[in-house]
Amino acid sequence: MKHFDYIFELQIRQMEKRLPDGYNSRLGMPQNGNPMSGISDEKDAEHLLMEYRPSEDVVSWFAFRENLLFKFLRPKAVEAGLREWFSKYEGLIICDCGHLFTFSLPNGVEPGVQVTCPNCSTRHKVDLADAQTI
Ligand SMILES: [Zn+2]
Repeated sequence: MKHFDYIFELQIRQMEKRLPDGYNSRLGMPQNGNPMSGISDEKDAEHLLMEYRPSEDVVSWFAFRENLLFKFLRPKAVEAGLREWFSKYEGLIICDCGHLFTFSLPNGVEPGVQVTCPNCSTRHKVDLADAQTI
């Protein structure tokens, strides 16, 4: 099961349980002060008491995201992280205008994709077989 499938299943289940009583949550706001009293069945116990460990990819993604959004990273670190998560193909093009530029294309890009020369806006069709896979 993928990470967000698990998280959303958990959230949907808990939200559906609130429907009869509005926003009130027996787990979040128990009348007797004991959140354990709000656990009503084994599925609740499985969701809320068992330790959940996301995959290493999920942990790595959220670590990168947190660093990117909330900490100062040097441009090289940002570039390396973005490449790790979003780039698959890299290449170098020498345009007819004489400008030399690099490109980086994400995973899942369609064959025949084009890149634009930043100097003259000429479109260049990229042969993914010629691009370096990273
Ligand atoms: Zn050009």
